Amino acid sequence: MWWLYALLVGFILYSLWMRQRAGLGGGAGPAGLLSMGRSQGRWLKEDEIGTTFADVAGVDEAKEELTEVISFLREPERYQRLGAKIPRGVLLVGPPGTGKTLLARAVAGEAKVPFLSVSGSEFSGILQGLGVARVRDLFRQAAAAAPCIVFIDELDALGRARTSFANNEDREQTLNQLLVEMDGFSENEAVIVLAATNRPEALDAALMRPGRFDRHVLVDAPDRTGREAILRVHTRKVPLADEVDLAKLASRTPGFTGADLANLANEAALLAARRSSEQVTNADFSNAIDRVVAGLERKNRLLGPDDKKRVAYHEVGHALAAVLAGSTDKVHKISIVPRGFGALGFTMQLPIDERLIMTKHAIDAKLVGLLGGRAAEEVVFGEPSTGAQNDLQKATEIARAMVVDYGMSEAVGPISVSSSRKVAFLPDASANMPRGVGEHLADVIDTEVRRIVDEALTRAKSVLTEHREDLERIAKRLLETEVLEGEELERLLAVTGRPPANGGDASS
Ligand code: ADP
Ligand code: MG
Ligand code: ZN
Repeated sequence: MWWLYALLVGFILYSLWMRQRAGLGGGAGPAGLLSMGRSQGRWLKEDEIGTTFADVAGVDEAKEELTEVISFLREPERYQRLGAKIPRGVLLVGPPGTGKTLLARAVAGEAKVPFLSVSGSEFSGILQGLGVARVRDLFRQAAAAAPCIVFIDELDALGRARTSFANNEDREQTLNQLLVEMDGFSENEAVIVLAATNRPEALDAALMRPGRFDRHVLVDAPDRTGREAILRVHTRKVPLADEVDLAKLASRTPGFTGADLANLANEAALLAARRSSEQVTNADFSNAIDRVVAGLERKNRLLGPDDKKRVAYHEVGHALAAVLAGSTDKVHKISIVPRGFGALGFTMQLPIDERLIMTKHAIDAKLVGLLGGRAAEEVVFGEPSTGAQNDLQKATEIARAMVVDYGMSEAVGPISVSSSRKVAFLPDASANMPRGVGEHLADVIDTEVRRIVDEALTRAKSVLTEHREDLERIAKRLLETEVLEGEELERLLAVTGRPPANGGDASS
C-alpha cells in the first residue's frame, strides 16, 4: 500500500507544480490541495451563455421535448406548488456533431439560468477518490446555484457499463457517486442534469433508472429541410451572392451533420475571403463542399453515391414488398438519412391497430417485407450486400418461432418444442437440445426454418420483379428527398392497388 500513498503525494506535488507553472494561482499550500477535489466544471452565468434555440436548427422534435425543462427552470415554483414531477436527468443521444452540446447550452440560454458543464472524460484516469470528490463538489455547487443546469458531456466516458475488472474501480466509484448525487436530490430542487452521449449502448443501465437519466432525447442527423435551416443559421452573418440557394445546397449535402454544415459555411467564407471577394458565391460553396466531403469520406462518415442508391432500393424494397404481400402494418416512413448508429437507412412500419395475436398469414407477409430489402438488392443490382444482415437475423428468428413456438410448420406439426429445459437423462450429445427434440427433429426444424425464409425471399423477389417500375419510381423519389412519409408515401405506395398492410418496427 505504501507505494499508493507515495504515488498520491507525488501526483499532488506534481500537479501543484504544474499549476504554479501555469500561473493558475491557488498553487500555494492548502488551497492548492483542496482545489484538486473541486469540480473542474465551468460555470457560465445566465448572461454569458449567448446561445438560444434560434442557434439550433433541424432538430425540432428534440427542441420540443426540451421546452418542458425550460419552462420548469423559468418558474420552478409553479411546478413545485402543484407537486408535479419534473425529469431530473435528460440524456441527449445522437451521433457526433449533431448539436447536443449546443442544444444543452441553448436550453440554459432559453431558461435564463446558469450553466455548469463538465465532460465525462475529465473523470477518467484520475486517482481513486478524486473523481468522487469532484462529483460531490459539482452537485454541491449546482444545489447552491439552483435553478440551474448541470451538463455532463460525453457521459459514456464516466458511465460506461461496470465490469468486474479491478482497474475500473476508480471510474466505478465515480459513477456510483453520480448515482448517489442524482438520487439524493430532493424531488423539488430546481437543478436539471443534462447529459450527452453518442454511445448510448455503452452506458451503465443503472444510469437510466427512474429518477436518473430516464428521459432520452434523440438528436439525429438532419434531413434535407433540417440542413437548409442549419445553413441558414450559419450564414446569418455571411454576405451571400444572390445566386446562392440554400435549399439547393441542402440537397447537395446529404449525410452532413450540423457541425459539418457549420464547417461548410466557414470554408466557403474563407475561400471567398481568399479571393478578396465581397460576397460568397455558388462556386465558393461548391469548392467548400468538395473539401468537406473529401474529409468526411476519408473518415468513412459519408455514403458514396453508389452506396446511397443501394440503400434507397433496399429500403423501398422493404416497404413495397410488405405492401404487396398484404402486410397488416402501415409503412409510416422511409429514410436514407444515415443514423449514426450503424443503420444506413430505415423503414418504419407500425400495426394499423393494436393486435395481440397474429395470424400465420400476417406473419408470412411480415417476413416478405423483412426480406424485401435484400430481394430488391438482388433484383436491381444482381447481388446481395452486407446491408441485410440485421434483416436476415430478424427473419430467421421469426421463422424459427413459427416452427418451434407456434406450430406453424406442417413438417414439425402443432407442437411446442421451444422450451430448452435440460433433461438429466438425455445422453450428453443432445443435452443442449430443446426438450424432447431428437436429432432427427432438430434437422427437420432447421430445414423448415430454412424453407420458410427461402420462400419469403422468393416471394419478395417475385413481387418486386413484377412491380419493378414502382420500385424504380419510388426509389428515385427517395434519393431526391431522402425521407418519404405521410401523404406522399401513401400515394406512392397506393398505386400498387393493394391496401397497405404488416411488419413491426423499423427494419434496415
Ligand atoms: P455534438 O455535441 O452533438 O457533438 P456540437 O453541439 O458540439 O455537436 O456541434 C458542434 C457545432 O456544430 C456547433 O457549435 C454548431 O456550430 C454546429 N451545429 C451542430 N449541430 C447544429 C444544429 N442542429 N444547428 C446549428 N448548428 C449546429
Ligand atoms: Mg458535444
Ligand atoms: Zn433492411
